[in-house]
Amino acid sequence: MSESERSLNFLEHIIEEDLKNGFPKDQLRFRFPPEPNGYLHVGHASSICLNFGLGLRYNAPVNLRFDDTNPAKEEQEYVDAIKRDVEWLGYEWSTERYASDYFQQLYDWAVFLIKEGKAYVDSQTSEEMATQKGSPTEPGVESPFRDRSVAENLALFEGMKSGDFEEGKHVLRAKIDMSSSNMLMRDPIMYRVLHKEHHRTNTDWCIYPMYDWTHGESDYIEQVSHSLCTLEFAMHRELYDWFLDQVVKDEKVRPKQREFARRNLSHTVVSKRKLLRLVEEGVVNGWDDPRMPTISGLRRRGFTPESIRNFADTIGIAKRENLIDVSLLEFQVRDHLNKVAPRVMGVLNPLKVVITNYPEGEEEWLDAENNPEDDSAGSRQVPFSREIYIEKEDFREEANKKFFRLKLGKEVRLKNAYIIKAESCTKDENGNIIEVQCAYDPKSKSGSGTEESLRKVKGTLHWVSIEHAIEAEVRLYDRLFTDESPDTHKDKDFMEFINPDSLQVVTGYLEPSLKNAQIEDRVQFQRLGYFCVDPDTSPEKLVFNRTVGLRDSWAKIQQKS
Ligand code: ATP
Ligand code: MG
Repeated sequence: MSESERSLNFLEHIIEEDLKNGFPKDQLRFRFPPEPNGYLHVGHASSICLNFGLGLRYNAPVNLRFDDTNPAKEEQEYVDAIKRDVEWLGYEWSTERYASDYFQQLYDWAVFLIKEGKAYVDSQTSEEMATQKGSPTEPGVESPFRDRSVAENLALFEGMKSGDFEEGKHVLRAKIDMSSSNMLMRDPIMYRVLHKEHHRTNTDWCIYPMYDWTHGESDYIEQVSHSLCTLEFAMHRELYDWFLDQVVKDEKVRPKQREFARRNLSHTVVSKRKLLRLVEEGVVNGWDDPRMPTISGLRRRGFTPESIRNFADTIGIAKRENLIDVSLLEFQVRDHLNKVAPRVMGVLNPLKVVITNYPEGEEEWLDAENNPEDDSAGSRQVPFSREIYIEKEDFREEANKKFFRLKLGKEVRLKNAYIIKAESCTKDENGNIIEVQCAYDPKSKSGSGTEESLRKVKGTLHWVSIEHAIEAEVRLYDRLFTDESPDTHKDKDFMEFINPDSLQVVTGYLEPSLKNAQIEDRVQFQRLGYFCVDPDTSPEKLVFNRTVGLRDSWAKIQQKS
């Protein structure tokens, strides 16, 4: 589906309406505003694709703005990771901005509000203020400090800024309406004292502006025309507008906040705070653990930027929250890798097969197509010899007609090689099959064009020559949580639903063409799934992550519905 063919989402309808009413197209401007308090996750990908997608659609600038107003939780590491992830997703921001760039301007505006009688310093404790908040049906109680003189407010606010007060002693509040039906309008806090070092402004400031005061004014400074955020901010819109009303005194673009639904993915959690817990409590090995729903985790797992963008496009933008099945994301990566990932052979659960009529000490290199979906992908050579591995699951002494793999007395084709027939097998003292003896048909070589090679046999197996195989550590992942929606249970912490078997590590035996595989290379292990070379790979050890299996559970879900 091309960008222009896709039907407009409701946010695009809003923009189109604005354009129709005379808003100049060249003044459209967007931003993606992450708080650098963690790594980006797949939910953020939706917001990134939305904002940068609008930028591309309307040829409008999109800023990357770090919403860095809480020094207690924010770090440079997160800033760097966020930039890396947005770039990796394939987007280019117009300018890199920080809310902290505007601390002085925000302070000056706050002073202006005090002078206008629209803000005051409250010297109550947060507990006292909480008791005065009222409820949605009951008005709040006005602070005894609400009618402080402008001079006193200015002096106290100046003192807050100069570091004269400890944390919690005073806050600056907007003077709006303690009986507003919107609780957020009941004299919201604009500034608090925090004696914390900021990752960019260091110790320049010891008062920090609150989100509501910062966000709209930052949008205005950057001349963002449409400020798109998630639904939990819908009630904040009135405050966003009130703050803008106080400072916008010119004809420049007045930003407009609009909300869309947060995206939730099944079998995981999409909240930086919760993901931080998984990292801190050692449930996963860092933010980029391949089981994490972070962009960096998905990258390490083998997801492509295209697959994540297609995922975001397919689920689109909604007005109501719902749960997106993770198999839809898996469908997208499978779909993309099917087109681009080279096919290779690797065996993860080996069973030795001896081809008794193949001469000992002999080997041959067979031509193997790299990708049947891509003619330009060419081919490679894979070695064949008398002793090979196949998967344990691919052999049974006896099985019914539906078992199209190897069984005694029956034939299968070895992918890119010959037809073999199982003649006997050897067991250990416990009755486990440890070796299968087969005969091969020398005239049946794949692609040779002989009558024997064209013979139809039901099953095709992947295999590797034991002598030539290279060993790799292969990490097989399963869902991180056993529950579809682990953080929605009232009486249970999401950590109770951790899947204890989300990681299984096995030794894989791979065809030798993979010897020079590079970190982040993605391949299809035929019949097994898509795999990606992990950064833990070293000259001594090759490490693969399973991105996703070949089976398409999403298609089945769709068929059912
Ligand atoms: P988290 O709870 O994970 O920290 P957040 O909303 O606090 O999420 P921000 O860094 O403030 O994270 O988010 C940057 C932008 O991404 C915001 O506009 C936010 O609305 C959007 N966003 C965050 N999570 C999602 C999500 N799950 N789906 C869609 N958009 C999201
Ligand atoms: Mg946040």
